[in-house]
Amino acid sequence: MGTYDVIIIGGGPAGFSAGVYTARANLKTLMFEGEQPGGQLTTTTDVENFVGFPEGIMGPELMNRMREQAKRFGVDDRFEIVTAVDLSSQPYKVTTASGDYFTKTVIIATGASAKYLGLENERRLQGRGVTACATCDGFFYKDKEVVVIGGGDSAMEEALFLTKFATKVTIINRSKRFRASPIMFDRANDHPKITILKNKKTVDVLGEDKVTGVRLEDAQTGEQEDYPCDGMFLAIGHKPNTGLFADVLDMNEVGYLLTKPDSTATNLPGVFAAGDVQDAKYRQAITAAGTGCMAALEAQHFIENMDS
Ligand code: NDP
Repeated sequence: MGTYDVIIIGGGPAGFSAGVYTARANLKTLMFEGEQPGGQLTTTTDVENFVGFPEGIMGPELMNRMREQAKRFGVDDRFEIVTAVDLSSQPYKVTTASGDYFTKTVIIATGASAKYLGLENERRLQGRGVTACATCDGFFYKDKEVVVIGGGDSAMEEALFLTKFATKVTIINRSKRFRASPIMFDRANDHPKITILKNKKTVDVLGEDKVTGVRLEDAQTGEQEDYPCDGMFLAIGHKPNTGLFADVLDMNEVGYLLTKPDSTATNLPGVFAAGDVQDAKYRQAITAAGTGCMAALEAQHFIENMDS
C-alpha cells in the first residue's frame, strides 16, 4: 500500500471537502468515514442554509453528493472506524480493524456527537424512548407525545420535525433564555402542536421498559412534577470526538482540538484538524467544509516542504 500523502479521519463536510482538495492536488488520499458515515447531517432533514441549494437539500442527500464528489477525484473512501493513531514519528500510523496505514499527514475531521443528560435512567432507557436523533427515530412516535430537551436551534428543528408524527411535542428548556435563533424559535412557538416550557430542569426519566414521562424541577421554586410522554429527544448540544487523541494533541478544557490562529495546524507537524472537532463556536456544515479546505491546502504545503 505504501505511504499515503493524506489520511482523513471522519466523513462529514470537513472530511469530504478536505478530500476533494487533496485528491485534486494529486495527493494520495485515504479516508475513513468512522462511526457515523456522512457525519451529523445524515441525521438531519432539510438543510436550507448550505449555499448552492436554493430549494434546500436533505442532509443525507447532501452528504452523498459530497462523498461522490470526493470519490470522483480519487479519494479512497472506506467505511471503517479508526481505533488508534500513532503520531509519535513520521510516517504517522493510523489503525483500523483492517490493518495499519501509514501517512505523511493526517486531517482530523471526526466531528462531534450528541450529548446526553447523564441520568442513570436515561442510559437504561436509551433506544426505548430515549434518543438523540429525531430524524432516525421520529417515525416510531406516530400519534404519541414526546418531549425535546434543549433550547437551541437543534431543539427547535427536532421539535418541528417531530410534529409530523407526534400529537404533542413539548420543548423543555432548563433556563428562561433560549439559544435558538429568533426565526427558528418563532416557527416552533407558532406551531399548534408544540408547547414550550422554560426554567424546567429534567432531573429523571420515568418508565420501566419504555419511557412514560420525565421528572421536571422548576429552576426557580425547586418544585418537581412528573410530565407524561412516550419519548424523550435530546437536543442539548454536542461533544467533540477526540478520545483517540487524548494526551497527544492539545485540546481545550472540554476536548475541542486546538489549532493555530488562522490555520488548522495542531501542535504536531503535519496533523491538521477541521470541522466541529476544533470548532465550538460556529459548528455549521459550511464552516466545517471551509476548514476542511484549509486543512487540505495546509497538508499540501506541508508535503511540498517535506519533499523539497
Ligand atoms: P446549542 O449549544 O445552541 O444549544 C444547546 C441547548 O441545550 C441550550 O438551550 C442549552 O441550555 C441546552 N443544554 C445544554 N446542556 C444541557 C443540559 N445538561 N441540560 C439541559 N439543557 C442543556 O446547541 P444546538 O445543538 O442547538 O446548536 C448548535 C449549533 O448548530 C448552533 O450554532 C445552531 O445555530 C446550529 N444549528 C443550526 C440549525 C439550522 O440553522 N437549521 C439547526 C440546528 C443547529 P443553556 O442555554 O441553558 O446552556
